[in-house]
Amino acid sequence: MGEKIIPYGRQFIDAEDVQAVVSCLESGWLTTGPAVERFERKVADRVRAGYGVAFSSGSTALMGAVAALGLGPGDEVITTPITFAATANCILNCGAKPVFADVLPDSLLIDPQSVESLVTPATKAIFAVDYAGQPCDYPVLRAIADKNGLTLLSDCCHGLGSEQGGLTPAQQADITIYSFHPVKAITTGEGGMLVSDDAEIAAAAASFRNHGITSDFKKREHSASYVYDIERPGGNYRLSDIHCALGCSQLDKLDFFLRERERIAGIYDEVFSNFSAVAPLRREPGHANHLYVVRVDNAVRDDLFRLMRSGGIMVNVHYLPVHLMTLYRCELGAGEGLCPVAEKAAKEILSLPIFPGLTAEEQNRVVDVLKTGLTQLESGK
Ligand SMILES: *Cc1c(COP(=O)(O)O)cnc(C)c1O
Repeated sequence: MGEKIIPYGRQFIDAEDVQAVVSCLESGWLTTGPAVERFERKVADRVRAGYGVAFSSGSTALMGAVAALGLGPGDEVITTPITFAATANCILNCGAKPVFADVLPDSLLIDPQSVESLVTPATKAIFAVDYAGQPCDYPVLRAIADKNGLTLLSDCCHGLGSEQGGLTPAQQADITIYSFHPVKAITTGEGGMLVSDDAEIAAAAASFRNHGITSDFKKREHSASYVYDIERPGGNYRLSDIHCALGCSQLDKLDFFLRERERIAGIYDEVFSNFSAVAPLRREPGHANHLYVVRVDNAVRDDLFRLMRSGGIMVNVHYLPVHLMTLYRCELGAGEGLCPVAEKAAKEILSLPIFPGLTAEEQNRVVDVLKTGLTQLESGK
């Protein structure tokens, strides 16, 4: 086919972004300098949190959270199987046990009732995921966390810019994590951030990001001292000034990006409202629309996936349930039947292209190929 390939997500870079990176390169300061602090402040302010700690990726920011909380063997963390594996990997990798709660059928967000039923004396935290960009039921999760003395973490890698009843996820969770991978709301190429109102958590995460070193370079320079100490395990998980300069410039466009995503999602909603073979997930106001996910009959999903892919439309499945991955089956003895709602949904979902810059013509093509393909497959089944 001669037609252009349409990805499910893509970055939006303009001349200001390019200039921001060039200016950083010309400034002479490439890492752990003013752009990092500026970006941390800007993101934290935007999500109304006290502190931001930039990381080399969303995944390393999650590792920073695990380190700051001191999680390890003997600890349990309740999380969701409908997420990118990084959410659960950081738990498994530190020797703690991920415990998978099931999800709600209409939104695929973590089910608070399932969470509550899984709390044990070993539970230390809830790692909730704002799947597709929609905030979880934070008021209920907050109450469960407070009642049981647990840390509530929001993996908000899909949800930068989202709100719920006037509150951001970062205002409701103890720790919130963002990713700046190119498919996410804003990009730094690779990058992530941990935000929190807790100064100790932020300091511990910042130390983990820099080899567990306690005082940073600038403080040593001020005090004219060569002395530093290492108090905890860590590594180099820093984000450079070059990345952060791009991040600042991208963040200035976040409202535009969010409006575009909402507009595109609204068109899909409208188109599918009278096409019963396609059921979009429930979308509440304040959704960041990172993904636009629909459910179709599981008997035709895989054929539809192939048909759309061969038509140049890069639909995807977010996600194969994490607890069914080989590592999790081996380590936890997890398997089919653990999270039936998630397992059923995973056989029916497709993520359709949604990103700022998706043209009306491209969106029409997505809808045409989907509708035509589905009608053919349904009649042949
Ligand atoms: C993208 C993503 C991550 C990891 O972010 P990276 O920046 O790619 O490391 C973690 N959790 C979720 C839900 C994500 O979508």
